[in-house]
Amino acid sequence: MNLQEIDRAYVWHPYTQIRTAPPSIPIIRAEGVYLYTEDGRRILDGISSWWVNIHGHSHPRLNEALARQARELEHVMFAGFTHRPAVELAERLIELLPGGLARIFYSDNGSTAVEVALKMSFQYWQNAGQPRRREFIVLDHAYHGDTVGAMSASAESPFTAPFLPLLFPVGRAHAPYCFRCPVGCNRSSCSIDCLRSLESILASRGDSIAAVLVEPMLQGAGGMIVWPVEFLTGVRRLCDQYGALMIADEVLTGFGRTGKMFACEHGPVRPDIVCLSKALTGGYLPLGVTAATTAIYNSFLSEDRRKTFFHGHSFTANPLACAVALASLDLLHENRSIERVLRLESLFRARLAPLRSMPVVSDVRILGGVAALELHTQQGGYLEPIGTRLGAEFLSCGLLLRPLGNILYFMPPYAITDEEAHWAIDQIEAVLGAMA
Ligand code: PLP
Repeated sequence: MNLQEIDRAYVWHPYTQIRTAPPSIPIIRAEGVYLYTEDGRRILDGISSWWVNIHGHSHPRLNEALARQARELEHVMFAGFTHRPAVELAERLIELLPGGLARIFYSDNGSTAVEVALKMSFQYWQNAGQPRRREFIVLDHAYHGDTVGAMSASAESPFTAPFLPLLFPVGRAHAPYCFRCPVGCNRSSCSIDCLRSLESILASRGDSIAAVLVEPMLQGAGGMIVWPVEFLTGVRRLCDQYGALMIADEVLTGFGRTGKMFACEHGPVRPDIVCLSKALTGGYLPLGVTAATTAIYNSFLSEDRRKTFFHGHSFTANPLACAVALASLDLLHENRSIERVLRLESLFRARLAPLRSMPVVSDVRILGGVAALELHTQQGGYLEPIGTRLGAEFLSCGLLLRPLGNILYFMPPYAITDEEAHWAIDQIEAVLGAMA
């Protein structure tokens, strides 16, 4: 059997157990924005390998940082022990993060970064003597991961449907989905009226709310929904007014993706807790961070063990991942990556915004290095078959795009050249043009 046949016989891949699905494509090598297949094809990675890659694949500097760290210390448990990569990374992140965030808690991925934030904020209120605050408010279209807590905090979707009886209840408020405004307004004349739904939940039971959890400025898996900045500042204002913690899930938006180091800087707002992962290691290794304020950290500091945060993973603060994350932060700085993302944003505005006039395109949303086209379809939503069909067509042109149902998006590594970006957009134009 060849690799593909063995894979098909033994491996269980995420999201793809469809009998008729094509076999998974063996990738033998990757460099820059390209993936190389076993059968000799080259594919441009137009979605940064599930939104993680920023500097390009197999970057010599990240390879070197990984190899150097592996020669010194590959891993050690992080309870009662520490090491330089984790300490330096915590220091660097605190310098970069919005003010007030003063403690870094490590875990393994985006979902665990969110699980930690939920548990941390829940226990914080018990430790602080306000155990009544135990409810979370989340937004429609939210996606925070696939573990049980993160699913509870996500919008109902095909991802969560089989598990509904397992999930804990949360309050759900409108998201600022301007193209399909939940309150029937128009962005050019509205006063962010959609924020009232969050306000009314807080007004009715604010003293029982532990935290409001949001994906600031860009809701990713829920449809690449770009927010008006006033919604972000409004969330912070309401959290302050009603005494709830604000958790910013920057797993997707962190490290420059939206044209700022962190999406909260668009406000700017200072969340009480920030979740990070994905581009944290430049897309190399799984690592999660939950950053919290001193007030939250101090509520756990006690001789009373019942106040301890009993949460830890075997690979917490893995030195290899931390060392690569440090090298990735160096590259972000040296390569002036945020400026690069802003140039990409201009290129997207020039090339993709005009596609709104195509009959198949109903909306175009652009923020930083992310461009999304919402397509006219009968059904809409993640299970809309057009996504799979278009994904296959783009693959046959050598471009990896993986639409979320009828939301076609382009989110390449920042290392993409203008020429490569233009080529990818040419493919998008051609494939959509042929649909018209
Ligand atoms: N939070 C957000 C905003 C995400 O986009 C994702 C993944 O796409 C997650 C959390 C979960 O991250 P992971 O897939 O690393 O568990």
